[in-house]
Amino acid sequence: MIDKSLQQLLRQTSNIVALTGAGVSAESGIPTFRDAQQGTWANFDPMELATLEGFLRQPHKVWDWYQQRREMAAKAQPNAAHLALAEWQEQLEQCLIVTQNVDGLHQRAGSLHVIELHGNLHRDRPISQQLPAEKAADLPRCPETGNVLRPDVVWFGEMLPEGAMEQALSAIEVSDLVLSIGTSAVVQPAASIPLHALENGVPVVEINPEATELSSAADWSLRGSAADVVPQLVAAAQLHYSRDRLSR
Ligand code: NAD
Repeated sequence: MIDKSLQQLLRQTSNIVALTGAGVSAESGIPTFRDAQQGTWANFDPMELATLEGFLRQPHKVWDWYQQRREMAAKAQPNAAHLALAEWQEQLEQCLIVTQNVDGLHQRAGSLHVIELHGNLHRDRPISQQLPAEKAADLPRCPETGNVLRPDVVWFGEMLPEGAMEQALSAIEVSDLVLSIGTSAVVQPAASIPLHALENGVPVVEINPEATELSSAADWSLRGSAADVVPQLVAAAQLHYSRDRLSR
């Protein structure tokens, strides 16, 4: 799966940006968005559950759904892909993880440099709107402002956290390898990250069991699960580090 030229690149690289999506957490038991559409969450409408308008209409319903997702994420354990990326971060000069996931599993695996493009399921933030008293009853409230709290995730139609994309794009411009792991590469603006790498002449490796819109443009498209392939990449790169250490 890892050909000679990729192996060589992995051994030379010291500065990586890894874009991750829901697929990286699939083997931790957290359904991807696509799974959710086909599986047990098939009856949920993203426009009801993942928009501010939906929240203002039915805040209890939205909170119940996020509470279930929080519990699922809290019970899940980081898998071999999260752990391998955390280990790689310790060895490389620079290894930035840019994740679309909101589950916090990269940090729980020990990764320090993580940009959360879509926020974090485990955090709350106050809304600025006032809800009618009967709608707001029993909802969690901000201890400082008294305003109703909502999950601190990016819903459809909302802005990404300030500076997140700019930081990711700048990191790509000085990186020597970009990985796109477990993402369908269609949700913007995250999907533009590997394209920005290609425009800047930075090689892109995709890891996904299925073909995506990025597959034909990527320099390597490795078909496999994240928990299987990411540790193989780190192992291939490590030969370089252990050799380097021996020669010092
Ligand atoms: P997506 O569901 O659109 O795509 C998931 C991708 O992962 C697919 O291409 C699929 O083929 C691939 N995949 C499935 N199993 C895999 C595995 N074991 N290893 C590697 N790849 C695997 O998800 P997305 O691209 O992240 O974008 C959809 C949105 O859904 C994002 O905005 C994200 O915030 C949100 N989301 C997040 C979580 C989470 O935090 N874990 C879960 C569901 C959805």
